[in-house]
Order: sequence, then C-alpha cells, then structure tokens
Amino acid sequence: MRILVLGAGVIGVTAAWYLAADGHEVTVVDRQPGPARETSNANGGQIAASHAEPWANPGAPRKILQWLGREDAPLLFRLRADPYQWRFGLAFLRECLPWRTRRNTIQCLRLALYSRDCLQALRADTGLDYDQQERGILEFYTDARELEEGARTADRLRELGVVREVKTVDECVAIEPALAQCRARLAGGIYTATDESGDARRFTEELARLAAARGVAFRWNATVEALGADGDAIVGAHTTGAGARETLVADAYVVALASYSPFLLRPLGVPCPIYPAKGYSATIDVGQHGGAPTVSLTDLAAKTVTTRLGTKLRVAGTAELSGYGTDLNPVRCEALVARTFELFPDAGERASAQFWTGLRPATPSNVPLVGPTRYRNLFLDTGHGTLGWTMACGSARALADVIAQRAPEIDFAFTAP
Ligand SMILES: Cc1cc2nc3c(=O)[nH]c(=O)nc-3n(C[C@H](O)[C@H](O)[C@H](O)COP(=O)(O)OP(=O)(O)OC[C@H]3O[C@@H](n4cnc5c(N)ncnc54)[C@H](O)[C@@H]3O)c2cc1C
Repeated sequence: MRILVLGAGVIGVTAAWYLAADGHEVTVVDRQPGPARETSNANGGQIAASHAEPWANPGAPRKILQWLGREDAPLLFRLRADPYQWRFGLAFLRECLPWRTRRNTIQCLRLALYSRDCLQALRADTGLDYDQQERGILEFYTDARELEEGARTADRLRELGVVREVKTVDECVAIEPALAQCRARLAGGIYTATDESGDARRFTEELARLAAARGVAFRWNATVEALGADGDAIVGAHTTGAGARETLVADAYVVALASYSPFLLRPLGVPCPIYPAKGYSATIDVGQHGGAPTVSLTDLAAKTVTTRLGTKLRVAGTAELSGYGTDLNPVRCEALVARTFELFPDAGERASAQFWTGLRPATPSNVPLVGPTRYRNLFLDTGHGTLGWTMACGSARALADVIAQRAPEIDFAFTAP
C-alpha cells in the first residue's frame, strides 16, 4: 500500500519505519526542514516505561489547585477563554476518578513496556546510536512521606509487572555517585533498573536516515492544511509549501501531528481530545565538571528529569496548559537551572544552558490515540503526551499490525472505527 505519514517527530518517523518494514511504500510529510524539530527535539530523554502512570490521578486536583497562579508550579492550568482548554480540564478531572486512573495506568504501562521491548529489538537490528544509557531510572525523594507514598505505589504496580525497588540514601548514592552532592537532603529513592534513556532527536534523525536508505520518501517544508474526504475514505492531503499547493494522494493516511492533530481531525468529525501541555528543558555542557549524573534521574519534588546525553546534561520538566505559545518564560528557565545546581553544584557550565520549550500532545487520560478511525483508510498515532519517546516504537509497531489487519502483540485500548 502507499501510505502517507503526516508528521516527522519521533512518532511519525517510527511509524514510517515499521510500515516500510511491512513492505508498504511510505512517504512522510512535515512542515519543518528535517525530523524531530518540534516536541521531539529536546525532551527529557527518559524511556520511562516503568513510570507510565498518568498525570490525572486522585491526588492531582488538590495539587493543581495549590499550584494555581504559581509561576514555577510543576503543573499549571493558565485559564483562558478557550473552550478546548476547558473541555480538556473537565475531561482531565473525570480521569482522576480512581477506577479510571487504574484503567489508564494499565493501558499506559502495557504500551510503554511493550515499546521498550520494541526499541531494544530495533537497536539490536540496526545498531542505532543515540547517546543511550541502559542504567535504569532512579526517582529520588527529598521528603520521607512522599517516599512512603511512592513505595506504596511501587507495591501496587508490582502486580502489573513493574519492578520498582525502594532504595536507601546510601543505595541511591551507590547507583548514582553524583547524588553525594545532595546526600543530606535525600530521603531515599525508587529505582527501576530496566528503564533507559537517550536522545530522542538523535534517534529520530538516525532512524529517518536509515528509513530513507530503505526507500521511505520525506517531503520537508510542506504544511498539511486539510484532509479531503469522500464518504468513508480520505482521498488526499492538501499541502502548501514554497508557495505551491499540492494534494498528496495515498491508499492510507497516518496522523502523527501531535498537538496539531485536532486541527485536521475536527473538520472530519474524528474525536481528538488533545491539548498542548507546554514543557521546558535546559541543556547544559558538562565540560570538565565531574558532578553531572549519568544515570537518568527523576526529582520527585520538583517534577523534573535529568538525563545525561554524551557531553551534555538535559534537565526537563514543568507543564503549563496555556495554549499553543512556545515562548520561554524566564522564571521557569531559571527554576530548572537553579534546582539543578542547588542539588549538583558541580554538574557543568551553568552559563552554557540552552533553553527550549515543547508542546506535549496531552490527552486527558494520558492514553495516546493509536488505531483506526471512522474513515477506513485514516489511522491515528498521536496524543502521546508526557511519554512519546517512551511509547514511540510500541505504538508504531502495533499500528503497523492494525493496518496490516494482524492481531497486535499487546492488549491495548486502540481507537475504534
Ligand atoms: C519538556 C518535555 C520533556 C519530555 N520528556 C520526555 C521524556 O523524558 N520521555 C518521554 O517519553 N517523553 C518525553 N516528552 C514527551 C515527548 O517529547 C513527546 O510525547 C513526543 O516528542 C511527541 O512526539 P510526536 O512525534 O507526536 O510530536 P512532534 O515531535 O511534535 O512531531 C509532530 C510533527 O508534526 C509536524 N506538524 C505539525 N503540524 C503539521 C502540519 N499541519 N503540517 C505538517 N507538519 C506538521 C511538526 O512539524 C512535527 O515535526 C517530553 C516532552 C516535553 C515537552
């Protein structure tokens, strides 16, 4: 089949890879001049398969209320006169019901764990190098009560096949010696040895290069303005680029446009409850400093992650539901760097910090939209929110199965036709 993949972030490029491996003739189209230039560009780098619990959980509404209006809040709803934002907020509240949280956790975990397996198999097949570390993820706590709560969650998740080990302060420092710099503040940690990390942008660029070598076509600088439909089929993708309009025609279409997916899907009547959740990252040169962590860390109190990418240290976090702007708020940038150097004074060259923002394509439940739609040749691979890098390979592999009408290897709540 001729398949057009819309979007060349980590989701679109992995989809193209697995579809080409199935023998399809694949073209990827993106408005940017190359792969991974938007949300997949400078994210937290974690393959956090064992941390796939949704933002929406029974404890979230209280925390969000406490954080309202705080410029440095980890999760901030900045209320706007935007019906889609309000709709998202109400749906998010509904997903905080205990039974829905449990269902969403199971879905996200299944996909994330499967995706980690797919990534490992892909790496073995291709020898891809993207500054990956297979040294686990250590979530560290500065508050003993929060650690107790984390340990209870770890117990509950064990029955779902997730192995999280509670660690003492000494054990945390043994896993990541850089934590010795803030030992006095630590209460302990929770370690998942099987999780990984790596540079999502490098991975996407490398995979796009391999895909091109295997015959996948890439159309850059082309914005998809609309999809044309006739009855129950999509008949073309209307694009503009370099002053020209063009309609790209294929046998099937995959939407991997992250936060921008609703703009194409709403006019077609395809439900797409995605809203952008803006996040920040700082990328710091490690230089000659010996105190930068190498094991990927999650700072539970600050809700940030730290990942070593070769000679750089990436710190990422915060979520702001405030529309589609990607401007940098200096308060948030400074909060990221200040926290990093407060905990790891010898982490790197503070003045080298490069700041970036990206829009996580969030769904209220955190469960991404993967699968068919009411149009027989239109498929979704979008809405991966906080975990698109973690879930990319598994979503792509499962979607290739759905398109080939094979039974996917995972039991997952795929979208319904
Ligand atoms: C601060 C931050 C930290 C994060 N940390 C992690 C982490 O540690 N681990 C993890 O798993 N995930 C993390 N994420 C989430 C992850 O980065 C995203 O889920 C993932 O990048 C989404 O990939 P995507 O391909 O769907 O989106 P994108 O990379 O944004 O790709 C979508 C593509 O569609 C293109 N596009 C959009 N509209 C159009 C149009 N109309 N026409 C043509 N092209 C169009 C864009 O140019 C873009 O290339 C983080 C996100 C942020 C913001």
